[in-house]
Amino acid sequence: MDGPSENGDAIVGGSIVEGLEYRAGATETVSHELLPAEDPLEPRKRSFDHHMIETGVTMILEGLGLDPDHPRIKDTPTRYARMCDEVFSGLLSDGREAMNRFFDENHNEVVIVRNIPFASVCEHHLVPFIGEAHIAYLPHPDGFITGLSKIARLVDVMARRPSLQERMTREIAEKIEEVLRPQGVLVVVDAEHLCMTMRGVRKPGSVTVTSAARGKMQSDPETRREYMGMLRNP
Ligand SMILES: [Zn+2]
Repeated sequence: MDGPSENGDAIVGGSIVEGLEYRAGATETVSHELLPAEDPLEPRKRSFDHHMIETGVTMILEGLGLDPDHPRIKDTPTRYARMCDEVFSGLLSDGREAMNRFFDENHNEVVIVRNIPFASVCEHHLVPFIGEAHIAYLPHPDGFITGLSKIARLVDVMARRPSLQERMTREIAEKIEEVLRPQGVLVVVDAEHLCMTMRGVRKPGSVTVTSAARGKMQSDPETRREYMGMLRNP
């Protein structure tokens, strides 16, 4: 490890960090104003409408022929609405502030963070997809880098909203590119989708792999192959 950083995060040059602890529920308060986004699925709210969510869940239970007043499930709509605060907390954040601390160092070595666990929810079926993200970036020549836990935090923000694995992968790469202005970034995500396990083709254990490359990792096939190998086959 070279270079100290705030919050005790390790900055690693040319080496690999594995198995960052999954910080379930580790959300931070977002204090800045969110701008209205053009994409209707981008964050617009500062909190969720619990009453509306509770009404919706009650109607689903009724639609299934269940009695929403039955003692066993009468608190389910409220419980679900509260759960949304945690599992969809990424909707209240745009991801950039997850990494807003970056330092200027003479740091030109690749940074790799592998095996970052995440749990997201498929926007087509509203059931989870769960997996790991692997990220490599080659810092800006002036050396803009961020704490390793900030990379994991970014993954958390982008995962904690209804999404698709392909888009989540691309968004992580785009946020890193935007904030750190690296020479290149490569994001690989592998995940199991419960919508493929519980319904449809019902293939438990099948893993979907997506990747997104920017900068050198995109334009230079040799560089891309090299880092893809490091992320996929350690
Ligand atoms: Zn799905």
